[in-house]
Amino acid sequence: MSVLDVTGLRKVFGDGHEAIVALDHVDLQVEAGELVALLGPSGSGKSTLLLCISMIVEPTEGRIRVNDQDVFVDGQSRVNVRRYRRENIGFIFQSHNLIPFLNARDNVAIAMELNGVGAREARRRALVLLDYLELGGRAKATPDQLSGGEQQRVAIARALANEPRVLFADEPTASLDTERGFKVMGLLKKIAKERSSAVIAVTHDERMIAGFDTVKRMRDGRFVADGGGAPAHGIEHGGNDETSAEKGK
Ligand code: ADP
Ligand code: MG
Repeated sequence: MSVLDVTGLRKVFGDGHEAIVALDHVDLQVEAGELVALLGPSGSGKSTLLLCISMIVEPTEGRIRVNDQDVFVDGQSRVNVRRYRRENIGFIFQSHNLIPFLNARDNVAIAMELNGVGAREARRRALVLLDYLELGGRAKATPDQLSGGEQQRVAIARALANEPRVLFADEPTASLDTERGFKVMGLLKKIAKERSSAVIAVTHDERMIAGFDTVKRMRDGRFVADGGGAPAHGIEHGGNDETSAEKGK
């Protein structure tokens, strides 16, 4: 069963001569535990796709189903949008958007409290999530005391606060150096596998997509031919040296 099933999704901004077709009949299915990389040049529609599936931006046409439930059909939303987002979708933005005067733990806890979890329980669960993202020791630090990579991991913890089935990350590594970028992408992979979430991560950086199950490339609001999965051992080296040594005989 697909967690996410999108068919014929279209988004047009503006109308008449000003109309911009940001999404042009996009189809996308993502399974539980599947990690999808979304690549494409600037302006190709990547953010619009994630925002439309999240119902942050209203689609123009098409159908969105999540967990076998209709979310958007025939130009109409079929859900309470705020509740749908809260209960199904986690979103990690390019800049972390943490609340500057709250520490890491409270930045995560507040997302749960907004969803009706009591303050004590929210703080307890927030610490569990920070541990999961290898940040347990930084729970009391405010965003300005955290490195860029740590801030982004707090933002991931916050996005996981309400146990979403679908997790979107829109260029989560754009402001990080390569090593921290790899770490964040590694955590997204762990989340997909261990929590059976459908994870879609937008990136500009081809080096970040090793280990993704599926690679989707956009251009002008459409997917171009499937790139298939990245090589499973794309960032490992030296494993096959014996083979080349054999050849030398
Ligand atoms: P990407 O994330 O791949 O860089 P976007 O999804 O942000 O691309 O944008 C796709 C197209 O839609 C672009 O032409 C962009 O200018 C346009 N667009 C995005 N958001 C809006 C908006 N709120 N109003 C008008 N046009 C928009
Ligand atoms: Mg974008």
